[in-house]
Amino acid sequence: MTGALTAFSTRRQQTMLVRGGLTRSEHDETSEALYMTSGYVYDTAEEVAAAFAEENPRYIYSRYGNPTVSMFEERLRLLEGAEACRATASGMAAVYAALVAMLEAGNRVVASRALFGSCHHIVANILPKFGIETRFVDGTDLDQWRDGLKGGARAVFLETPSNPTLEIIDLPAVCALAHEAGALVIVDNVFASPLLQKPLELGADIVVYSATKHIDGQGRCLGGAVLGPSKFVDGPLFAFLKHTGPALSPFNAWLLLKGLETLDLRVGRHCANARDVALWLETRNGVRRTLYPHLDSHPQAALAQEQMVDGGSIVSFELDGGRPHAFRFLNALGLIDISNNLGDSKSLITHPATTTHSKLPEADRHRLGITEGLVRLHVGLEDVRDVKDDLAQALAVWSAG
Ligand SMILES: *Cc1c(COP(=O)(O)O)cnc(C)c1O
Repeated sequence: MTGALTAFSTRRQQTMLVRGGLTRSEHDETSEALYMTSGYVYDTAEEVAAAFAEENPRYIYSRYGNPTVSMFEERLRLLEGAEACRATASGMAAVYAALVAMLEAGNRVVASRALFGSCHHIVANILPKFGIETRFVDGTDLDQWRDGLKGGARAVFLETPSNPTLEIIDLPAVCALAHEAGALVIVDNVFASPLLQKPLELGADIVVYSATKHIDGQGRCLGGAVLGPSKFVDGPLFAFLKHTGPALSPFNAWLLLKGLETLDLRVGRHCANARDVALWLETRNGVRRTLYPHLDSHPQAALAQEQMVDGGSIVSFELDGGRPHAFRFLNALGLIDISNNLGDSKSLITHPATTTHSKLPEADRHRLGITEGLVRLHVGLEDVRDVKDDLAQALAVWSAG
């Protein structure tokens, strides 16, 4: 079943996004039912004993599973073309669970340096406390991957495109090197979304999401998911989740199910708007460089175009004049909101050096190109002409200063 659905047929994909995983109750409701319940009841003591003996698969407790959460997991699983999916309370819960369920003391992890701040913290500070050796490499440099993987590793963890400089990691090449070294590859696919990049088809073993971003897409709730082989996802990962408790709330699962129904429409518009803004920014005075994966000016444009269906919702750009000028520009914006979040229907902008990446050592920020003039813009679903008008008036304030 999953084989047929991994083909990039938009019609099938869109149909899955609307109907995948739907299981109706005896009331025959049209829309997915919201099961706000923590527990479940049994007719007999024998029935509950059989459930606990795992003789009779059924819902036992919502930390283990819930019908609304299951519908979300199944819809996302079909979209990703994965064998199995488990949802979590947030993206970070998904990342942490995927790593910890796979690793034990003495294992090695090799990760790309350009990670989301909290992901970097887990790899740099939390895993080593438990006797796991971790190593960072420049994700765009295959020699560094080769070198980092010498002597073997249990897991490779990476994000592409990266936040905020939108570097692209060559997934087939890195997955091949990782597999040679005996490592499983975990990809944080948040920036691309499940629609624009299919890591499992490019060789990855596990995909993780913050569903908070484009999957909800409307700034309403947190959520996350881990997808991959059933042996791992329904085995050690599920055991870790069920006993440690980062369960997705049924209400949030319901929001995310409804988010998936419009994901394709929204992501398509986000990409069109972001490309339009990126091309426009390239022509503006005072904008030193513009980064957008599908632009010809992107340092890895060919790889980005091969690996991703479209460029995504994020445009990063560097303003002349460093932090004071970047702050004056942000403060002059009237429509675009200053926010460290992304993936929302609203356009959001942030200054990574003082927010999302402020905890990174200065040397790492420098190495990643996160300068004091760099800003990260998530282009929303407003009329793109209004977004550009707002950027233009803020650039005018900026250059008058
Ligand atoms: C937001 C984000 C996360 C964390 O997700 P939460 O839902 O906020 O916990 C992880 N990775 C990337 C790339 C993100 O953008």
